[in-house]
Amino acid sequence: MKEKIESILNKYNNDPSRLMDILLDIMENSGYVDEFSISVIAESLNISVAQVKETISFYHFFSEKPRAKYNIFLNNSITSCLRGFKEVKEAFETEAGTSFGNLTEDGLIGLYETSCIGMNDQGPAAIINDKIFTNLTPYRARKIINDIKAGKKLEELVYENHGDGNNAHPLMNTMVYNHIRKKSILLDENYEKFDVIKNELKNISPQELIQTIEDSNLRGRGGAGFPTGLKWKFGSRMPGEHRVIICNADEGEPGTFKDRVMLTQFNDLVFEGMVLAAYATKADIGVLYLRYEYKYMLNYLNSVLDNMRKENLLGEDISGIEGFKFDIRIQLGAGAYVCGEESALIESMEGKRGEPRDKPPFPVEKGYMDYPTIVNNVETLASAVKIAKNGAKWYNSFGTKDSLGTKLLSVSGDCRFPGIYEVEWGTSIREVLEMAGAHNVQAVQVGGPSGTLVNVKDIDNLSKTELMKWYKPSGMMTAQTAFDRKLSYSDLPTGGSIIIFNKDRDILREVVMNFMDFFIEESCGSCSTCRNLPRIMKEKLEKIINGHGVRDDIDDLLNWGKIIKLSRCGLGQTAANPILSSILNFRHLYEDHVMAMTDYDNQFDIVKSVSPANSFVGRKFIHNHS
Ligand code: SF4
Repeated sequence: MKEKIESILNKYNNDPSRLMDILLDIMENSGYVDEFSISVIAESLNISVAQVKETISFYHFFSEKPRAKYNIFLNNSITSCLRGFKEVKEAFETEAGTSFGNLTEDGLIGLYETSCIGMNDQGPAAIINDKIFTNLTPYRARKIINDIKAGKKLEELVYENHGDGNNAHPLMNTMVYNHIRKKSILLDENYEKFDVIKNELKNISPQELIQTIEDSNLRGRGGAGFPTGLKWKFGSRMPGEHRVIICNADEGEPGTFKDRVMLTQFNDLVFEGMVLAAYATKADIGVLYLRYEYKYMLNYLNSVLDNMRKENLLGEDISGIEGFKFDIRIQLGAGAYVCGEESALIESMEGKRGEPRDKPPFPVEKGYMDYPTIVNNVETLASAVKIAKNGAKWYNSFGTKDSLGTKLLSVSGDCRFPGIYEVEWGTSIREVLEMAGAHNVQAVQVGGPSGTLVNVKDIDNLSKTELMKWYKPSGMMTAQTAFDRKLSYSDLPTGGSIIIFNKDRDILREVVMNFMDFFIEESCGSCSTCRNLPRIMKEKLEKIINGHGVRDDIDDLLNWGKIIKLSRCGLGQTAANPILSSILNFRHLYEDHVMAMTDYDNQFDIVKSVSPANSFVGRKFIHNHS
């Protein structure tokens, strides 16, 4: 055992910053990281046992306790719930004879829930020992368990050999489908692979390339929208022994799966974009941070990088450009939504808990291993290639005045054609719904749980009298519709997640509660606001839904929503959005629940409330009702 651990440690040169890789290898080898392994790792890396344990405890896919031979991680995101998560979960439990969070007595099967795994267009989906299982039904769940019990191998459990495109590549061989529904300038396949590196780079200087990207007004496609050219310019000017380009492929926002498709089908564009970013900023270190949920792509993506090295598109004097040295490695995550935040991602890459850093300094000044670090999204880097090839003016001819170019949308939920749509910025929600074959729509979640819940009615533009009518179903109006709102930085900005809900969905009970559970689960716990308020707000929402709410409860939610915005990173700052956005755009649902109540909380049970404290201090509660 010790020999095996030492060989893994040697593979990573006993480098503490590679702790994630070391733990991932041990997990793969033993199924968990036991006390003995932890002590060997700590001693060899010259770090404390506590440091090793705090990293293990942070990530969903690490464990200090033995896991089963077959571990089923069933995705519990809202799109999965809309398509039968509950029934699939019950089928797994009944057939396996254990409940979620536990292993079967013989240690054969472990059942776990997990947040979004990027399969919203083909859910409910699960990861079983790193293999993806899509479109699960209770029948399929029962069959999987029975096949496991019958001693079948993992490969024999699949019910579809492979999906389309590169999903069928022997190194990937997954039943996942790309579901590309609409292509435009980015997904247009009329482009020769690595053309810019091979034929264009030698003709332009790094400064000219940065200027082209600046002139194109390309903004970060992960959601924050920071100007890419400016980020490259800052990065190129920072002093440092090394500079680093990180491609952030940790898309964890529920409802987002565009990076999955980009990396499956257009990885050449993404890697080429990283090389361009390196050329522009004189970076020599490249890392693709790949979310653990996409581990099934790892071998395939590494084979693409190997081919690039063979073609001198990575390495020394790339494409004959003297002194241009750059290479890319893939860093796997281990399951933590917050690592999508760039500084948390960098912490994770250094082998630590993925807790966001205080800023400044920003990563571009002091990032990975304190080197100037440029973190760009998958889609951003791919877009940069098309801009470098066709020019800023060409790019500026697409989109709207404030939002130029195109955007990849991951569309899922209640529609006939879930999948990837490349649309020009400025496309309306209505147009997206038409393309996706969505009918009877009640609401659209734009930008995932941290985004906006758009109502068919445009509440913002209704007068107070109209608003009061709108609160009562009997007085519903044919008001202007919010579905004419446009996807753009000035109206509805989005990282790309679009989830559609039809009129049969219970927005508060099904949707908002699910989103709040997600934020509660994914908070890193550093800030008291983000650690506590989502939980308290969810309890308050539950109280309202159960008919025990008063109007003051809605005000409390709005006030707490302001406090939580003081949290350190975007996760906490947006964790109240499901509630705030639904109060703003679906206030009638809240009003319906509290309508009959008086203005004071007659459901508050003081005896029940203080009893834990009384029992702790050994006192009796004396309460005079008269
Ligand atoms: Fe962690 Fe939440 Fe604070 Fe972000 S806001 S640092 S996720 S506790």
